[in-house]
Amino acid sequence: MSEIESVDHKIISGIPGNSGIAIGNIVCINNKRRKVLPKSISVSEIDFHLNNFKDGRTALVAELSDMLEYLDAQSGSIIETQKQIVLDSEVEKRVESMIKDELLSSDFAVYKTFCDFIERLKESGSELFRQRIVDLENLRDRFIDVICDDEKSFSIKKGTILVTKELSPAELVTLHADGLSGLVMEKGGITSHAALIAQSLEIPCIVSAKNATSKAFNTKGILDGREGLLILEPEKEMLDSYKTKLKKLKKTQKRLLDNINEPSLTKSGTEFFLSANIEFESELNQLKKYNATNIGLLRTEGLLFSNKTEFDDQIRFYESVLSSTEGSVTFRLFDVGGDKLNAKIPEEANPFLGWRGIRMLLDEKDLLETQLKALLICAGKNKGRVKILIPMVSVEEEILQLKKIITKLQQDLSNSGHKIDNKVALGAMIEVPSAALNAEKLTEHLDFMSIGTNDLTQYTMAVDRGNEKICSLYQQQHPSLWKLIKITADASAKTNTEIAVCGELSGNVLGACGLIGLGIRNLSMISNAIPKVKEELISHNDSEFKELAESFLAASNTKQIKEKFEDWRVH
Ligand code: PEP
Ligand code: MG
Repeated sequence: MSEIESVDHKIISGIPGNSGIAIGNIVCINNKRRKVLPKSISVSEIDFHLNNFKDGRTALVAELSDMLEYLDAQSGSIIETQKQIVLDSEVEKRVESMIKDELLSSDFAVYKTFCDFIERLKESGSELFRQRIVDLENLRDRFIDVICDDEKSFSIKKGTILVTKELSPAELVTLHADGLSGLVMEKGGITSHAALIAQSLEIPCIVSAKNATSKAFNTKGILDGREGLLILEPEKEMLDSYKTKLKKLKKTQKRLLDNINEPSLTKSGTEFFLSANIEFESELNQLKKYNATNIGLLRTEGLLFSNKTEFDDQIRFYESVLSSTEGSVTFRLFDVGGDKLNAKIPEEANPFLGWRGIRMLLDEKDLLETQLKALLICAGKNKGRVKILIPMVSVEEEILQLKKIITKLQQDLSNSGHKIDNKVALGAMIEVPSAALNAEKLTEHLDFMSIGTNDLTQYTMAVDRGNEKICSLYQQQHPSLWKLIKITADASAKTNTEIAVCGELSGNVLGACGLIGLGIRNLSMISNAIPKVKEELISHNDSEFKELAESFLAASNTKQIKEKFEDWRVH
């Protein structure tokens, strides 16, 4: 048992959300959600409430705009999306109608409008949308604060480590500007917006730290983001050892960035390719910073989220992405359980096993064909650079049906005078065990496969990836995952079909080394993970990676895999 584990009454543990070390004062807040009850107003009060809503909206938009000053591209785009939601015409229509037609107060009208929206997202099978619920709840509560002229809920001193139930991107950005040094949240997964922003602002962060707000108290502490630990009242010896680690960490970060322009070759000279996962347009300027030529996963669900699914909006977005790099872009078709705005989301007992990804797209022909048409036109103009990725494939027939639609659209586009790329690459996400097990057969219809280890973990371990209660079972490095990845990698080698991995596993150093060991050379990840992955991959030779991957396949649990990796790394 380590020194840290032996004093477990002073330790709060969770899932690493962003690595790094913070040492400072802990502030613990138990933030409660707003509850606004319906309040009737008289006809003579309508104008007052309409103005109150509009003034509140202007003030909130100004507050969000001020935050943009502090932000890099990734975080800025999240705040931009929040501004768009606040200014959304549908929000305005509903709030105004509640005030005018139903004679309800402005704070309740805003509350109810956001709550209805949130309910829809809850039913969506999309992890991305579910992760946004906390953002919307916080945005709703802040909107109501502003309307009711309430002060901001809290502020902090420079160097504070904050322990809280959850935090919105906007709050995190404000707290960062106030000098927040670390964050512990009870809720949220590693892909929650707060965790993503913590990564981009380089704030050490722990998520899913169960009951953290009731266990922590205001004292001094150490946050170890890599291990997912918050150590309360550390003894002097431990404090000194963490201070030394912190110094080393700062040096390492500098060295990693210096490596970024080195050739991407293992010690044996084998080339590998580290590409970026992109979700927001304003993340695009990170491609240069991390020297990523290709975008290995472009998530397009943001278009749905910000209500930009019109053909022209899509073309504009896709063109902007393509013009940001000379490399290839893998556009993933909408991966949701339903269009959040068209009220078609069915009530499903198990949304994650339900109508999502390609299953939904094949039913929603207009949505699918508009997206495909926009992508195929961009492909014609940018030959060889557009790749289309199908989400959530579980059976061969889904690929065949989609191919028929693509062939027909290509013919129509060609007949109407558009340039087309006859060789536009089509790939499938391998993120459901049935697809991994059947990969060799699927390759007959595919140009490439991309393994989505986030969902593959969810479906292999039978663990809802957003459920904190069972998050300890969400083990992306479990031996069963490595076995499914091996089957897929072998299918790719046998059939000479390109293969990539675009789930979180590839942005993890252990994961990346194991994947290279299985012969996978294309890894796509959150761009700021590229430096640390690259440093590890250029430091070993192919036989070492192979030996590591073999040891993962032979392990019987995740703990053993982690131990094997640590041993391998030091030898
Ligand atoms: C995955 O499932 O691994 C993946 C990359 O897609 P998403 O996280 O968007 O579901
Ligand atoms: Mg997925």
